[in-house]
Amino acid sequence: MKILVVEDETKTGNYLRQGLTEAGFVVDLVRDGNDGLHADVSESYDLIVLDIMLPGLDGWSVLRALRGRGETVPVLFLTARDQVEDRVKGLELGADDYLVKPFDAEHLLAALGRAMALGRRSQDVLKGLRFAADRQAMADQIAFDMSSRPDLDKVPGAVLDFLFGPWSLVMAHARLV
Ligand code: CA
Repeated sequence: MKILVVEDETKTGNYLRQGLTEAGFVVDLVRDGNDGLHADVSESYDLIVLDIMLPGLDGWSVLRALRGRGETVPVLFLTARDQVEDRVKGLELGADDYLVKPFDAEHLLAALGRAMALGRRSQDVLKGLRFAADRQAMADQIAFDMSSRPDLDKVPGAVLDFLFGPWSLVMAHARLV
């Protein structure tokens, strides 16, 4: 399993490389959007972790170009912006999941698992990603989301939606904003 990480921030990039390597992945790290776009993704990678704010070419453009040329590789995008609009934009452009910075290892692995599931790839590897941390990360995310929308009273439904993927929850956000 090979993962391409496109992240210009040294600390975050190194953290990702170390964490994913320890989780058993082979990781290539590039720090420029152009390098990410020109990597041979269809042949070489099972997943791309893509930052948004990048030198050369931003993550939005990289993602749009990849999908535009028919690449189906799962993409997990990183964003420092905790804005619903950003998450929706990323998913509309063809990302499979997102991760809001700063994040910890549990959130990373949970998002990685969801992205792979949504990308309908690597099901065998996905089984290995079913950590207890996954549930905790989801619980944390849901708690965060719920705290910002007290008008949503159907917590069990929202939890269920989230377990099936981020899209339904994002759309729930979008309807409420
Ligand atoms: Ca960046």
